[in-house]
Amino acid sequence: MDNGLTIPAWSGRRRAEALRLVKAIGRRTNAPCCICDQPIDYSLEYPDPWSCSVQHLKSRFLFPALTWDRSNWAPAHISCNKSAGAGEASDVAPAGLGVTSDDW
Ligand SMILES: [Zn+2]
Repeated sequence: MDNGLTIPAWSGRRRAEALRLVKAIGRRTNAPCCICDQPIDYSLEYPDPWSCSVQHLKSRFLFPALTWDRSNWAPAHISCNKSAGAGEASDVAPAGLGVTSDDW
């Protein structure tokens, strides 16, 4: 049944592209972590706990329709993202390491 509400999973190449976009914007605007408000070193890469990850301002679980809404994305340290809630922990899975995708 297609009710128009099918949301692609937050995974794979799409997620890698989301991270790349958030990092590019964050680097350009010098955006701090949206959780702890400290600067992010955008040269760091996963799995460094202080590298950038994509935080969903509104939880994907409560607002699945906003999973792929760019206005719902903000940069956050991986370690902050992890501690922000277990439900978001999967947001910090490797996104920049090539093909780790389950939808490849
Ligand atoms: Zn932080």
